[in-house]
Amino acid sequence: MSGTEPESGAPAALLAEVREFAQGPWRQWGQEVERDGAVPPRIWRELARRGYLRLRAPSAVGGRGLSLPEYLPLLEEFSTGHGALRMIVHVQNGVWRPLLQYGSPEQVERFVRPLVAGEISVAFALTEPDAGTGADIRTEAVRDGDGYVLRGRKHLITFGTVADYALVVCRLAGSAGGEGTLALLVPRGAPGLAATPMPESMGLRGSDHARLEFDGCRVPASHRIGAEGQGLEVALAGFLYPSRISVGMTCVGLGRRALELAVERARARVTFGRPIGERQMIQTHLAEAATDLEAARQLVLWAARRWEDTRLAVSESAMAKLFALEALQRVTDRALQVFGGAGYFKDQEIERIYRDARAQRFEEGTAEIQKTTIARGLLAQR
Ligand SMILES: Cc1cc2nc3c(=O)[nH]c(=O)nc-3n(C[C@H](O)[C@H](O)[C@H](O)COP(=O)(O)OP(=O)(O)OC[C@H]3O[C@@H](n4cnc5c(N)ncnc54)[C@H](O)[C@@H]3O)c2cc1C
Repeated sequence: MSGTEPESGAPAALLAEVREFAQGPWRQWGQEVERDGAVPPRIWRELARRGYLRLRAPSAVGGRGLSLPEYLPLLEEFSTGHGALRMIVHVQNGVWRPLLQYGSPEQVERFVRPLVAGEISVAFALTEPDAGTGADIRTEAVRDGDGYVLRGRKHLITFGTVADYALVVCRLAGSAGGEGTLALLVPRGAPGLAATPMPESMGLRGSDHARLEFDGCRVPASHRIGAEGQGLEVALAGFLYPSRISVGMTCVGLGRRALELAVERARARVTFGRPIGERQMIQTHLAEAATDLEAARQLVLWAARRWEDTRLAVSESAMAKLFALEALQRVTDRALQVFGGAGYFKDQEIERIYRDARAQRFEEGTAEIQKTTIARGLLAQR
């Protein structure tokens, strides 16, 4: 199951509402998070109260039922703000999907409805320090009566210390490759699970990233999402493929803010008697950045429409994410260049944007992995 009909008339009105919000309180909250290095719980509560964490989920489970192409312009607006804040909107508007798609009716009532309502939160836990991301994962589960016993390690897990559950992708002990993988919802504080914060990151200051260590952690079988052997499918088809399209739009939003700031700077900064925006070399930076962003936006929206049609869009989601994340690096680099040396200092928003943008090259799969995915699709065609 996935997005259903939007609430009538919602997208246009909602876009105006979110745009106003993103240019007001959202920016102030971002400054607060950057200053304090943490997202206060009241921001989670306020986002849930405003309905911004249930935009994508179908109305049948309490969501606002926007399709992916309807949701993405809203995500673009949220992404013009602080990276730690847009991460909340992005993850919570996507992590219900594998639970709804692969969960039993009982699991939908128990986990999906409260998640969509903002009463619980779920982190997505795939990456491991000791293995490649995907079929190489090593965290092992051993069946024991009516549950599983987990051993292994995850790291870089967003919301890993604060989320109520982690959707942990692991494998049955002794299995290899994609076979034998499974997805388990592990409650925070489960005996045998140690969640510890990662060191402070370069950007996305205030985002919670964690190491999860499982040492004999017992998880009830009723917390398994999908069947044994479906773990990677839950992670990829359920979460990551469409999520990569969303990450592409987060790149567009952040890049757009960088360009807005660069344009303001190009108008205001005068050297040798003229605003630098009158110099063709500065205009080149702005024009190429604007072109990059529009190309990325259109590719992301195309991938979203393909996903709506096919519910898979593996290559399309990889192309959208690849182009958008590389465009973002070019755009933020150009924007910082337009600022000159002053942009390298922390009193400037562009300094924070430049650091936040770098994370996008890792989140939900690197450029290298997107290229591998696209090439695999090409080579499989006859
Ligand atoms: C801010 C942030 C938030 C994150 N949040 C989460 C989260 O919530 N949940 C989660 O599970 N993970 C999360 N991650 C992890 C992220 O998904 C991984 O960092 C990313 O997928 C790359 O995996 P890795 O770090 O293990 O890199 P590695 O696998 O160590 O790769 C190192 C380099 O080698 C390249 N490489 C690796 N294997 C291959 C290959 N087979 N072919 C070609 N090149 C290859 C990679 O592209 C990369 O350039 C997050 C990361 C960051 C930075």
